[in-house]
Amino acid sequence: MTDFTGKTILVLGGSRGIGAAIVRRFAAADGAVTFTYAGSKDAAEALATETGAEAIRVDSADRDALIAVVAGRGPLDVLVINAGTLVMGDPLTLDPDAVDRMIDVNVRAPYHAAVEAARRMNPNGRIIVIGSVNGDRMPFAGAAAYALTKSAVQGMVRGLARDFGDRGITVNAIQPGPTDSDMNPAGGPMASFMHSHMAIKRHAHAEEVAELTAFVAGPHGAMITGSFQTIDGGFGA
Ligand code: NDP
Repeated sequence: MTDFTGKTILVLGGSRGIGAAIVRRFAAADGAVTFTYAGSKDAAEALATETGAEAIRVDSADRDALIAVVAGRGPLDVLVINAGTLVMGDPLTLDPDAVDRMIDVNVRAPYHAAVEAARRMNPNGRIIVIGSVNGDRMPFAGAAAYALTKSAVQGMVRGLARDFGDRGITVNAIQPGPTDSDMNPAGGPMASFMHSHMAIKRHAHAEEVAELTAFVAGPHGAMITGSFQTIDGGFGA
């Protein structure tokens, strides 16, 4: 297991699902982990007690508050931007405010958090966004706005990798396919449809996504930048 002793790590959106698995992975490797949450106070407090990580409540859609939290953690070694929401449905009837809030959380927040972290990031730092294979492929109706957000992450990753590369800072997206979580339960109504698009016909476990995240964040990830690391059981193949 890659060791993160002495490393300062901030995970945005760490109370549940993939984010919680990432918090556990870094904490188990002795990183100094802080994570944010918005609505799941009980889950966040339980995870903090379990792992020794620090939990901070901040809504990623609140730009100034988010920037203050990122700045307040001091020089980071690793920033993982996991917080994300999914709004699906007929675009002709979807609530435009809900769509805009998703864009705030999935697009605006990653950009501002990444830039703020880079202002004072340690050399060879790591900025990792949890994107989605839906940035590459959207094989069903009703998720155009979500796909928009995950494709936008790709453009940001490409550009910021070039902006910060001279300091050894890498910027990448991890792109999960269907992954068991509250957002996309393995036993949910869309599961078998999703599996029909996959070579390995199951949801990923959040721990599998966390392990890939740790690899990209570790010393062996030094030459991985501006890239999209897809972990989707062949969903996008
Ligand atoms: P969950 O809904 O299970 O968990 C989402 C996490 O993000 C929670 O910890 C939640 O915290 C946090 N979060 C959401 N909105 C905010 C906000 N405004 N401010 C701060 N934190 C927030 O989702 P997943 O674990 O499934 O997804 C995590 C990421 O992975 C997302 O970016 C998602 O798009 C991406 N992804 C997921 C896939 C899947 O199949 N599960 C597939 C591809 C990508 P709280 O509850 O405290 O608000």
